[in-house]
Amino acid sequence: MKIGKATRAAAVALAVLALLPILASCSHEHVFTEWQTDEKTHSRSCTAGRCDVTEAGEHTFDAGTVTKEAEVGAPGVMTYTCTVCGYSYTAEIPEKQGIVLNEFEEFDTHTPLQKKYLADSVDSVNKYAEGVLEQSTQGTPVFKWALSGVPEDTELLKYTLYLSPNEDFEGAKTYSSRYFEYDRSRGFDFLIKTRYYWKVTANLRAADGSEFTLESKVSSFMTLDGPRTLDVDGVANFRDLGGKECEGGVIRQNLIFRCGRLNPNYSKTPSITSSGKKKLVELGIRAEIDFRGSVNDAGLYQNGFKADGSEPMTSWGGDQIRYYLCPAVYHDTILSDAEGKKMVKDTFAILADPDNYPLIFHCSIGTDRTGVIAFLIECVCGVDYEVMARDYLFSNFANIGSKRTYERFTTVMAPVRAASGSTYREKATNYLTKIGVPLEQIESVREILVEKN
Ligand SMILES: [Zn+2]
Ligand SMILES: [Zn+2]
Repeated sequence: MKIGKATRAAAVALAVLALLPILASCSHEHVFTEWQTDEKTHSRSCTAGRCDVTEAGEHTFDAGTVTKEAEVGAPGVMTYTCTVCGYSYTAEIPEKQGIVLNEFEEFDTHTPLQKKYLADSVDSVNKYAEGVLEQSTQGTPVFKWALSGVPEDTELLKYTLYLSPNEDFEGAKTYSSRYFEYDRSRGFDFLIKTRYYWKVTANLRAADGSEFTLESKVSSFMTLDGPRTLDVDGVANFRDLGGKECEGGVIRQNLIFRCGRLNPNYSKTPSITSSGKKKLVELGIRAEIDFRGSVNDAGLYQNGFKADGSEPMTSWGGDQIRYYLCPAVYHDTILSDAEGKKMVKDTFAILADPDNYPLIFHCSIGTDRTGVIAFLIECVCGVDYEVMARDYLFSNFANIGSKRTYERFTTVMAPVRAASGSTYREKATNYLTKIGVPLEQIESVREILVEKN
């Protein structure tokens, strides 16, 4: 049968008529089901009586709300919500452009081997080092970072790492790298118990050829306690006496250093390299005390100069450094023999002059004569006995040719231990005044070196 237009219209009319009784009874507030949703649509129907009104349609999303801000290193979240049904979906906001630092809170400037000794008893050093390998330099951190939000077709020109004990990076040291990290095996020369600040910049070239720079935030870390070693190229066993806690304060860092020789015995060829000399200039060294003493058959001091005083002696660290020779031949009895006592007395006269700082003092390998003088200085400042013993024994981590033991330390320092006084500061003061060091010189040394609490 053919259904014409009229027939179809009649069918629609019939359907409407059939609905009429229901619509008539629908003078109510619809009670809708929850919205049924999928990704594109929403729908709900009335549950009242026989009412079967249904609302349906496609979502109409709002302009979106930031529910999590994008950061450098972390994408954000944007949430879009249907204004009709409340259905929502989220989209990622790309991470911000920048540099993410691999942060760390603290750094121990000592190598794993040095740390083992420092955690063990004071007299156990020879379990770890016997003075036949050069192991005295600092351990160093690995600075790491990552780029964030930078398109893949961006070209890296270079990274620069800034490192400084000053928060404003004044006088910062900078290191360039082509990689996402800076791993330098030596030469940071960190101060101990000091907060360091670091940041990284990246010089980049975009796909369109334009160059731009990104800069990380500033991160910081604390260095830990312990003997402070430095890396001065060509000089062994280089340590700062500073950073040690003492009676009423702490010994200032970067002011007085002990080390091995700057040139070989009986030779005028320097062993300190040009980079080592540059480091001495950076440290601002103003004076060098050399304890090497004996005269060889050719009439030369161990430092290579003529012992008859016919030529002026200058420092291997440079002409601007005042060079003092306080010669003595080493014996375990150096603190009680005449030559040794003269060495100590002459040295304290130099140490008492504030114009001589920053200062380095050394013998040949920076262990015995140097260790004795370091001990006396630390005593005068009021450093704890065990800390002084560890400083002396730490020379075992340098290539000094053979080991030093705790027993040797106690033997060599016996004249000070035997002096009257209840503390090593008193004992050393009594020992020094007895051999002829004026009290005001001893007090001057303490005044110069100790930063009071
Ligand atoms: Zn209804
Ligand atoms: Zn919707």
